[in-house]
Amino acid sequence: MTDTADKPARSLGRKTIRPTLRPRELMGETPDLKGVWKAKVITLFPTAFPGVLGESLTGKALKDRLWQLETLDLRRFGIGRHRNVDDTPAGGGAGMVLRADVLGPAIETAMAGTSPCWPLIYLSPRGRPMDQPLMRSLARADGVTLICGRFEGVDERVLEHYGVQEVSLGDFVLTGGEIAAQALIDATVRLIPGVLGNAASAEEESFAGDLLEHPHYTRPAEWQGRAIPEVLMSGHHGRIEDWRRAQAEALTRERRPDLWARHRAKSDETG
Ligand code: SAH
Repeated sequence: MTDTADKPARSLGRKTIRPTLRPRELMGETPDLKGVWKAKVITLFPTAFPGVLGESLTGKALKDRLWQLETLDLRRFGIGRHRNVDDTPAGGGAGMVLRADVLGPAIETAMAGTSPCWPLIYLSPRGRPMDQPLMRSLARADGVTLICGRFEGVDERVLEHYGVQEVSLGDFVLTGGEIAAQALIDATVRLIPGVLGNAASAEEESFAGDLLEHPHYTRPAEWQGRAIPEVLMSGHHGRIEDWRRAQAEALTRERRPDLWARHRAKSDETG
């Protein structure tokens, strides 16, 4: 998989591209590209990456060097002949805890040489729930380091010592942080200019304002006896805009009273 040296590199300005590489081969083998957003992921399962991030728009953008991905195998930092990374919880109880003296060096390695604008995040059910403002702020940073937990989680002292921010995918418990890390990276990377083909779509969709998105339809015009709403076939852009807006408002009011209240408060402020 790493046998790429025979392939000629093509230089496009500061970015060097080997166009034949697949996303998995693009990870962590090249020097950092200055100014290109990067995710560094500390994980016991580096082969889980790029995972779904290697597909479709995020995968193409990774190939095109619009963002970068590097995994740090936590096992590498393990202790002793067996490269132990975990131990039993102090005070007793079920499961295992990732050791501070293993995570510490991994974090130091990941954060070495990063800019001041480089958040350090632990994926954790205790964390701040992921939302679009978080993704927007991460997309504006130079990159992010993500710690994927396993077992019962990580030694608390690591979180305190490095001032790690905790972020949650939602109010449920996963077996590891990898899926949450991929969700966070996906939602962030698609905000990087050029990643989405049609830049407008990121601005219009759910959460760009505070509203959920209106419904979508496409051909055929009739399916299972159901027609596409007539207004969408009218070609009347003004009416279509109004209809979509009304639908977005109705959906938000009905499904997400919390978002609706925030939206109303903002509209009142701006008159
Ligand atoms: N004992 C912990 C759960 C550990 S689950 C508790 O009850 O809080 C193992 C790992 O999965 C965690 O260390 C974390 O990295 C990840 N994880 C689990 N649920 C998550 C969620 N909702 N969001 C983000 N990461 C999660």
